[in-house]
Amino acid sequence: MTDTALKRVPIESQKRLRGLMRDYFVDLDAAAKDPSRRVAWCTSVGPTEILTAFGFEVFFPENHGALLGAQKVSHTLIPRAVGAGYCPETCSYMNSDIGASLAGWSPLQDIYDIDGPPKPDLLAYNTNQCREVQDWFKFFSSKHDAEILGVRPPLYLGDVTSRHVDFVKGQLRELIERIERSFGLKLDDARLEESVAKSSKASSLWREVLETARTRPAPLSFWDGLILMAPVILMRGSDTAIEFYEGLLAEMQQRLVDGVGAIPGERFRVYWEGMPVWPRMRELSEKFFDLQTVVAASTYCNSWAFADYDGGDPLDWMARTSLEIFINRDEVYKQSFLESMFEEFSIDGAIFHNARTCPNNTNSRFGMAQRVREELGLPVLVLDGDLTDIRFFSTAQSMTNIEAFIEQLEGRRS
Ligand code: SF4
Repeated sequence: MTDTALKRVPIESQKRLRGLMRDYFVDLDAAAKDPSRRVAWCTSVGPTEILTAFGFEVFFPENHGALLGAQKVSHTLIPRAVGAGYCPETCSYMNSDIGASLAGWSPLQDIYDIDGPPKPDLLAYNTNQCREVQDWFKFFSSKHDAEILGVRPPLYLGDVTSRHVDFVKGQLRELIERIERSFGLKLDDARLEESVAKSSKASSLWREVLETARTRPAPLSFWDGLILMAPVILMRGSDTAIEFYEGLLAEMQQRLVDGVGAIPGERFRVYWEGMPVWPRMRELSEKFFDLQTVVAASTYCNSWAFADYDGGDPLDWMARTSLEIFINRDEVYKQSFLESMFEEFSIDGAIFHNARTCPNNTNSRFGMAQRVREELGLPVLVLDGDLTDIRFFSTAQSMTNIEAFIEQLEGRRS
């Protein structure tokens, strides 16, 4: 039972976010129906900025996959994708998104009174996160008879070298040329620079927001971050995202001054490694609230905290960003990144989510959880589950495991 003496203080910026999301989806719907405008579908870490600079309105299918998970409907849609030949243990974002398309339904219809995901003129993916996105986008490219283009960086890197960067820049240049040829457009270099500068600015502000959780009590938690991160993905490269994060950062800084924490009476600080469990976000968030434990940092929310752009060739920044992201790094880099996060955020214990349908963003499969436990002496819990498919997540078992884990932290402290 939640202790009624402990009251959450709502984050005001979340109210503003609802309006921004509505405007974003309603405008995308209008763009898809307007012959003078173009829509592109894009993977979450780009190449968004190029598409924006060409004047495309950009839609992100991964966000739609997460929405289907949060709406707790993925397990009803995935069987349709399985019927079309997709393995039930492949990315459940992809399977639920394809399933929704085959069902001719989307929660966007009910929430925003629009047709659903906008029909694309172009689909652009980046395999820096996984190859699944390529096959996912191919399904929709065939369905809508739309052009599909991709960037395929070298994977699982330790150090990112200038040769890696040059290689990806070459692919980005080719992507630009293909778009110019196919759509009769000419890229405006100044516009690309502006788009990259705005993306980088929004991303830096997002990182500053997340870093406020280094302080005790943390003014926001992972659960808040999952909602508040939407603009840094969907509206990257826009003034709207920058203004939103400026306001959010000011609100978080005020909470630091006032000593307002996401978890009143914060006792423990935990790190969440891996994908969220979207359909059980509320239950998990309430469980941690009851246990007076803040999930102070996560790999997932940090995935859109990119390096700053200091001018120069915008393709250089785009190539580096797409190579340097956590998911595209080797085990040694990942572990050292996690170690620095544990230290910076004064973490008492780490939870590794073993997401059944996303091996790409799961880091408990090759001994890392064990190594963290042994080398750092940090308590670690591995939770079996999935990002959207609740058939892989036992709520009762997970809650029991989380309670036992916090008891373990308690025991260490006393
Ligand atoms: S990283 Fe994982 S969740 Fe994201 S698209 Fe790839 S397989 Fe799906």
